[in-house]
Amino acid sequence: MNDEYFMQLALAQAESALAAGEVPVGAVLVRDGQVIAQAHNAPVKEHDPSAHAEIRVMRQAAAKLGNYRLDGCSLYVTLEPCTMCAGAILNARLSKVVWGAPEPKSGAAGSVLNVFDNPELNHQTLNHGHVLTRECSLPLQTFFKEQRLRQKTVAAATRLRDDAVRTPDSAFEALPGYPWQPNYISDLPALKGLRMHYLDEGPADAEITWLCLHGNPAWSYLYRHMIPVFTAAGHRVIAPDMPGFGKSDKPKKDSAHTFDWHRQVMLELVEALDLRHIQLVVQDWGGILGLTLPLAQTWRYQSLLVMNTMLATGEQPLSDGFLAWRQMCADKPLFDVAKLFARGNPQMSADECAAYTAPFPDAGHRAALRAFPPMVPSSVDSPGATVSRAAEDFWREQWQGLSLMFIGQQDPVLGESVMRDLQQRIRGCPEPVLLPQAGHFVQEHGHVIAVQAVQSFFNSVNAGDRQ
Ligand SMILES: [Zn+2]
Repeated sequence: MNDEYFMQLALAQAESALAAGEVPVGAVLVRDGQVIAQAHNAPVKEHDPSAHAEIRVMRQAAAKLGNYRLDGCSLYVTLEPCTMCAGAILNARLSKVVWGAPEPKSGAAGSVLNVFDNPELNHQTLNHGHVLTRECSLPLQTFFKEQRLRQKTVAAATRLRDDAVRTPDSAFEALPGYPWQPNYISDLPALKGLRMHYLDEGPADAEITWLCLHGNPAWSYLYRHMIPVFTAAGHRVIAPDMPGFGKSDKPKKDSAHTFDWHRQVMLELVEALDLRHIQLVVQDWGGILGLTLPLAQTWRYQSLLVMNTMLATGEQPLSDGFLAWRQMCADKPLFDVAKLFARGNPQMSADECAAYTAPFPDAGHRAALRAFPPMVPSSVDSPGATVSRAAEDFWREQWQGLSLMFIGQQDPVLGESVMRDLQQRIRGCPEPVLLPQAGHFVQEHGHVIAVQAVQSFFNSVNAGDRQ
């Protein structure tokens, strides 16, 4: 029965404290080799600043022994005692205190001061520290690391940059078919403190992740019919709102939006979340940007689900449909986003269409809507054209993954001819699936698409395995 044995018991108490959300400190009180009492920190639960492990274990032991003096007893505690506990230990006349991890900010057994090394006090308690130091520090490190993370998350959820606006939460209340909790990130280097929103559904440790990228003027709401299919397959789904869209912060200036910046934000998000076995799902700008992502960290990407979009290499003229869209955005910068969805999607309810207007309560929130149409690379030296050409080479020559293409045939902007052109440039991309009823926002028919994608990417692999 040595010090380390009793310290292990105190450590078990510390683990209980950690599980209870208290600072993980544990203590045991021992007399003649017998454990008299065990306790852990509980100031939070007991609303008691004095509910340190040492105080609680001494109270228990004193009650048990029927004596406020604990002569001949030894106290084992995982963290160096504070001044309060050191004082109580002396008052209880303990013979010996054994502690684990030093407490450099408030330790009263040698780190900041030493209450036990004071010959003028009438009682002396033997002070023995640094027993199982590393083991005793671990739960504390875990606790404070998690606490910092929580604080960071809270801070990220509240701070707003001066040059940005934030759509009030109330705008997003009770949207039909969108029950998911928000997730925010603001510490990507490219965001410079802007708060970016993303959906993160399904198990965090799932092997497969569907990365669903929206375009202009949509947001993660666009994927509401597909997300449940992917999570039902046991997979994880990440659906970000690009800065300027959805629940993400919106820079005030149109000029904040550039091709390279948005691409960089997405690259950093994928890396920060350490996404692997990515099933890349793209449409519109989700593809204009998203199809360039696998150039970096190709190994993270496994399959491609591609809907009405393009690779804007600047080598071919933009389609008439796209030019008309760009002109409309320039002529009517306050165009009604809900009406845009209603026009191509008679199956959508008014509330669903309105959900696409929700992020943009006024012109001050619409910088991205103004900036994006002119940002599509239109000549070989436009920003983004070079990386788009590199991406084109990649898809044509290097892509090893499975691909699946859906075309909404009612789309006047990025419809069948643009998409068939793209199909030719994606290595191994099978004949596209045509959706005669679907318009530009193909995901509004997303349920069947998602079902077919899961079957195509996973069941077909399994079928191959069986041979
Ligand atoms: Zn204390």
